[in-house]
Amino acid sequence: MTELPLLMLHADTLLHARWVITMQPHQGVLEHQIIAITDGRIVDMGPRKEMLGRYMAGHEYFLEHHVVMPGLVNAHGHSPMTLLRGYADDLPLRPWLEQKIWPAEGKWLGEDYVAAGARLAIAEMLLGGTTSFTDMYFFPDVIAAAVDASGMRAQLASPVFDFPTIWAGSADEYIGKATRLFDQYRHHERITVAFGPHAPYTVSDEPLRKIAVLSEELDIGIHMHVHENSDEISEAQLKHGMRPLKRLKQLELLSPRLQCVHVTQLLDDEIWLLKESGAHVIHCPASNLKLANGTCRAADLLAAGVNVALGTDSCASNNSLDMLSELRLAALLSKGNCEDASSLPARDALAMATLNGARAMGLESRLGSLETGKLADIIAIDLNHPRTQPVYDPCSTLAYSAAASQVSHVWVNGQALVVDHKLTQMDLAQVIEEARRWGAGIAAGL
Ligand SMILES: [Zn+2]
Repeated sequence: MTELPLLMLHADTLLHARWVITMQPHQGVLEHQIIAITDGRIVDMGPRKEMLGRYMAGHEYFLEHHVVMPGLVNAHGHSPMTLLRGYADDLPLRPWLEQKIWPAEGKWLGEDYVAAGARLAIAEMLLGGTTSFTDMYFFPDVIAAAVDASGMRAQLASPVFDFPTIWAGSADEYIGKATRLFDQYRHHERITVAFGPHAPYTVSDEPLRKIAVLSEELDIGIHMHVHENSDEISEAQLKHGMRPLKRLKQLELLSPRLQCVHVTQLLDDEIWLLKESGAHVIHCPASNLKLANGTCRAADLLAAGVNVALGTDSCASNNSLDMLSELRLAALLSKGNCEDASSLPARDALAMATLNGARAMGLESRLGSLETGKLADIIAIDLNHPRTQPVYDPCSTLAYSAAASQVSHVWVNGQALVVDHKLTQMDLAQVIEEARRWGAGIAAGL
């Protein structure tokens, strides 16, 4: 009797991982796994001893000392402001904005500035394991082009203000530009477009009502700074006779499509307002601390069932786009604030930086965890380093010990964008040189 040859399946890429953190709810750390990727999706996953010999692959990666996990999701930022990293520090919010940031932007802002800043941000984020980011800035069309070329994934919040800027002259023009950008990218596999009304104090009732209607009709997300500091609350009470969240509820903006950024000022009944509406909170701990804006009650929000994602905010108020540092800070800050060492444990901090970010973008069914059928946005972190040995619990190692520089591989949509710590689709030397030139110009010209 002749034996039939074993039929091997084809995969584009196979990952042999020492540890896998899938971020699927209630699933612990898996060991010695193989993940198969084809056409940008995870098509199979299982223990090495069961998977071995099942697939033939074009590319195989042997990640013997690595944790493999979903790509990090930076749920809030302003990528072109990376060019202002370190330009103005140790100042409170208003003088920081009015005396330093806005004058610099007024002088330098334009398409070339936005493109250079976005590329610098994308390079930093990819090398640190971020595969998706949400961005709110002028010229979102230019940022979209940079994202498209890089292979990364992004949600672009097209800005809306009451007053004219270089991007638009009126609230209607901002909203028109946002809907046109949405149309342009509605079928793009890595780019989504949201409305980005800047904040309750910079957008009046009528455009906010219009955004609420369009958001529901077209199913577009809304990304907005909300309750960033106590001044915002007291000014709103004087001007509108109520706190901003209550006003947003009256304007029918609170829904699962709304992403509220910062939210450092929260009353108990506002936590329930967020919970009932299904709105998301984007926690930006480093930026809130650096600008002395207060802290977000992340643990209380999570306990109430509100989805809390994590963002770095811009490099002008952070000053990095390092999501591993951000999630560590979120965990430590929560323990300190709550005077409870069990508050925001490592795994919850990792969830905020992955699955919760995907949920805030409305992409939870496609992103944020490693599961068969989901998109292959995956990172590998090399733990073979003194700062991450020994390893008892990889979740704990990632949350409390690992550095962004230990991210060795990054895949987005199954495409390898970082291999052995090197960008595959971008010329890093050119990106850095471009940033250096802008920095020199800004320093000399102001
Ligand atoms: Zn911001």
